[in-house]
Amino acid sequence: MLRYHTVPVTAFQQNCSIVWCDETNAAAVIDPGGDLPRLKAEIARRALKLEQIWLTHAHIDHAGGTGTLARELGLPIIGPHEGDQFWIDGLPQQSVQFGFPQAEPFAPTRWLHDGDTVQIGRCVLNVRHTPGHTPGHVVFHSPEIGRCFVGDVLFAGSIGRTDFPGGDYDTLIDSISQRLWPMGDDTVFIPGHGPESTFGRERRSNPFVGGT
Ligand SMILES: [Zn+2]
Ligand SMILES: [Zn+2]
Repeated sequence: MLRYHTVPVTAFQQNCSIVWCDETNAAAVIDPGGDLPRLKAEIARRALKLEQIWLTHAHIDHAGGTGTLARELGLPIIGPHEGDQFWIDGLPQQSVQFGFPQAEPFAPTRWLHDGDTVQIGRCVLNVRHTPGHTPGHVVFHSPEIGRCFVGDVLFAGSIGRTDFPGGDYDTLIDSISQRLWPMGDDTVFIPGHGPESTFGRERRSNPFVGGT
């Protein structure tokens, strides 16, 4: 069964999730934006075998530590969708702009597309392409445990910003209503920032997407 533990990283308190298969202890880290020593300590404390890096999108708070972590541990980088190539190219500039340590460049080992799956140990998660916050944003859904790792698409009570280059409000709303809601009201989502919630709660009360 899939298990996970979320560690807020960087000055942006980005929810980096360590996910693992509890039969094999094989682990992936979703969005290692920074604070790599803390992430490594958590992985060691749980005696996990870190095997993959998964990215929802290439903003600095989500992807900033990716190049270094992949190089140090020889890990494949899975995702995001190639629509975020320009954000990956811009990571050095994002580092300066937001006062982050200089991000090491990287190239994803595998781009992700809508309908793909990713696997860690014996656990399989479904990939949905959810553009709007960034063009290449993806989410990772585990029907097995009813959880979805949504990055900056949706938050408890809010939605992702759409005022960055390549962002689009209507596209984001469509991604939420057409690609997240079908996962079911009981699905718990882990957003890129802030507390977890359920899709059902957001459908009822989120002022941006309530009633969609
Ligand atoms: Zn973002
Ligand atoms: Zn973010």
